[in-house]
Amino acid sequence: MTDKYYTLAEGCPFASASTSVQVRRGQGVGGLGLLQDTQLIETLAHFSRERIPERVVHAKAVGAYGEFEATADCSDITSASFLSKAGKKSPVLLRVSTVGPESGSADTARDVHGWAMKIYTDEGNQDWVFNNTPIFFIRDPIKFPSVNRSHKRNPQTHLPDANMFWDFHVGNPEGIHQLLHLFSDRGTPASVRTMNAYSGHTYKFTKEDGSFKYIKIHIKATAGVKNFTREEATRIAGQNPDFLIQDMFEAIEKGDYPTWNVYVQVMDPSEAERYRWNIFDMTKVWPHKDFPLRQIGKLTLNRNPRNYFADIEQAAFSPSTMVPGFAPSADPILQARLFAYPDAARYRLGVNYQQLPTNAAKVPVYCPFQRDGFMRFDDNYGADPNYVGSSLKPTKFYPEVKSVQPKALSLLTEHEKWVGEVSSYESHVTDEDFVQPAALWEVIGREAGHQDRLIGNLAAHLKGVTSTKLRSEVYALFARVNKDLGSRLQQATEALVAGH
Ligand code: NDP
Repeated sequence: MTDKYYTLAEGCPFASASTSVQVRRGQGVGGLGLLQDTQLIETLAHFSRERIPERVVHAKAVGAYGEFEATADCSDITSASFLSKAGKKSPVLLRVSTVGPESGSADTARDVHGWAMKIYTDEGNQDWVFNNTPIFFIRDPIKFPSVNRSHKRNPQTHLPDANMFWDFHVGNPEGIHQLLHLFSDRGTPASVRTMNAYSGHTYKFTKEDGSFKYIKIHIKATAGVKNFTREEATRIAGQNPDFLIQDMFEAIEKGDYPTWNVYVQVMDPSEAERYRWNIFDMTKVWPHKDFPLRQIGKLTLNRNPRNYFADIEQAAFSPSTMVPGFAPSADPILQARLFAYPDAARYRLGVNYQQLPTNAAKVPVYCPFQRDGFMRFDDNYGADPNYVGSSLKPTKFYPEVKSVQPKALSLLTEHEKWVGEVSSYESHVTDEDFVQPAALWEVIGREAGHQDRLIGNLAAHLKGVTSTKLRSEVYALFARVNKDLGSRLQQATEALVAGH
């Protein structure tokens, strides 16, 4: 209940919200509307505009607030303030989504799950825009629209299309590692609360002395990973398409707060030079035995959104949102995402999306060279100079607060001194690309029945491919991971196609 009285949007009190103004004949129903009925016009016009563009990917989501607590002093590897001492807490917003399906789709649809997290630190916002898999389908950003379209709807039939899906993956086989994750049990998480997340990309931790480490981040559910089988996921999609949203909302509402431990793998730049795997290739992990996990924090979700649209739909995340001490690597997919995510937010929410309450930093923001634009709703820096280099009102910069030595600046790009030819490089797939998928196939084999379920999940999807040739090419693709996998997949799929 509210004790405020009803007004129109401009604040003028109004006696009713449920009657339009009409010219009536007598007392009966029916009458002509009037243009002077501001309330009616505003009500209808606003309704027609109350949807903003749906995210082209990651449209269906659940979100909540919580806190990140550093569990160790990480100042040996990063100058990030939020990781500077054990026990330091920063507020967090987390939004977890499927990727391909639309906003009204079923939560339990088999898909990669996005993990978008905003840490409101005392040095500004740090976004972690991750997935629940440690790798991705592609390693060249130009393929990003293609991989997503092939997973979405056929341009003619408007139906999800197994032909398109597998046609893409046979033509772009670097995605095989991610396909194994997707069609394993982890493609259908039983709860967001029991899901892991991974940075996928290599990032950098940097220090004020100019040194840096390459890192990958792992976020692991303390409750362990739990998944649905294909049959469970399909049944629940029909019974409750919003299962994951409801599961998380109700858990938080009753104080059963989900928690995760946060780890990093740390690699010295000198090791990157010699390492077997290209650390900028997003189809590869760093095996645990080479780079063990080191815990840096703990994440707890403890507060539901007060309003879904304001808190979660209007939330915008980008890998380019980084605090001092955290930096991107030369992974080309990451480099493209640094542009694409803010660009999507500007399209979806407008150029001042960083001012929206859910996106706004919790520290003072002073960014006077980014001004005006649609929907500016603060004082727009008043009379402060809107150009750089003013001596009338000089701008204070970060090194005055935290000194960066000039010597250190020259060290900043120690490993990443890039000299090369400008080229467009076709990423050829070799046997080396099947080594880590083969290792995953073995990992999956450690769990009773999981290899059978993976084959069943693949076959159930693959049976929708109408071309015999394309199906054969898919079997050949999986046989490159493991011969037995290829032949069992063929057997299971062809039995379904034959209607057995
Ligand atoms: P390890 O044996 O050290 O690790 C395997 C990891 O696989 C586990 O630690 C676990 O990570 C994850 N895992 C366990 N069961 C499953 C499953 N059913 N589906 C997917 N992942 C599972 O081996 P490596 O580090 O050498 O990696 C071998 C393979 O494991 C990789 O090729 C990769 O596909 C996969 N993997 C590797 C990760 C890495 O960063 N090294 C992370 C996740 C998977 P977790 O506790 O994070 O769930």
